[in-house]
Amino acid sequence: MELELESILLPGIEDKRPMVIAGPCSAETEEQVMCTAKQLAEKGMKIFRAGIWKPRTKPGGFEGVGVDGLAWLKEVKKETGMYVSTEVATSKHVYECLKAGIDILWIGARTTANPFAMQEIADALKGVDIPVFVKNPVNPDLELWIGALERINNAGLKRLAAIHRGFSSYDKKLYRNLPQWHIPIELRRRIPNLPIICDPSHIGGKRELIAPLCQQAMDLGFNGLIIESHCNPDCAWSDASQQVTPDVLDYILNLLVIRKETQ
Ligand code: PEP
Ligand code: MN
Repeated sequence: MELELESILLPGIEDKRPMVIAGPCSAETEEQVMCTAKQLAEKGMKIFRAGIWKPRTKPGGFEGVGVDGLAWLKEVKKETGMYVSTEVATSKHVYECLKAGIDILWIGARTTANPFAMQEIADALKGVDIPVFVKNPVNPDLELWIGALERINNAGLKRLAAIHRGFSSYDKKLYRNLPQWHIPIELRRRIPNLPIICDPSHIGGKRELIAPLCQQAMDLGFNGLIIESHCNPDCAWSDASQQVTPDVLDYILNLLVIRKETQ
């Protein structure tokens, strides 16, 4: 199967693996966003991530700063020149992001698992040319993942990528979400022209697993990485145990071995 796709590379981003998207799990305050973004830009990062609408498993948790965060992302773009990305889960989120000039949208794992939500997002994106990265659904259902990508592609969007963030399981051992690498590998076999980005932060759930997971993704020929990075990870309002400072992120990326035969 071939989706009708175009390159996800944005102007100024070299075509050399890995493409890295980095930033905090959540935008918390303007200071935290700007401090993290400036440190990441100093390390040469080109694409910033921060969630402003956070779908949480249980009520009562921090559910994101909402539209206020869009102004901070605009400020990141202006101050650092990085491209900015955030998660959308409803058509309202899409309209707000398009209005604010967000560069890349991603769909979270809980949203990919919901065909009505995916269709609503696809309808809101009709006729818009923006890169959209679709995370796998929380459950290991390749067809649901492909279906979500198809809905966005059918709306006319061609700059698509898949994000592999692992699959939830009842028994949590080493990983927060099981990598089940054969599933993204099968996705690549089914849709060979679709770039696949690895999210070691949500697979591992612990900062010490980020480096080995990044290396595994590179060895398997993934096209990019999305990694959570926070200027003060231990104080993060969400996913504290899996975030790393921009310094540590830079260290991890410098240690990666990119083998020629997987390029
Ligand atoms: C996130 O990227 O912070 C996030 C909520 O991820 P996921 O949808 O993979 O759980
Ligand atoms: Mn997160």
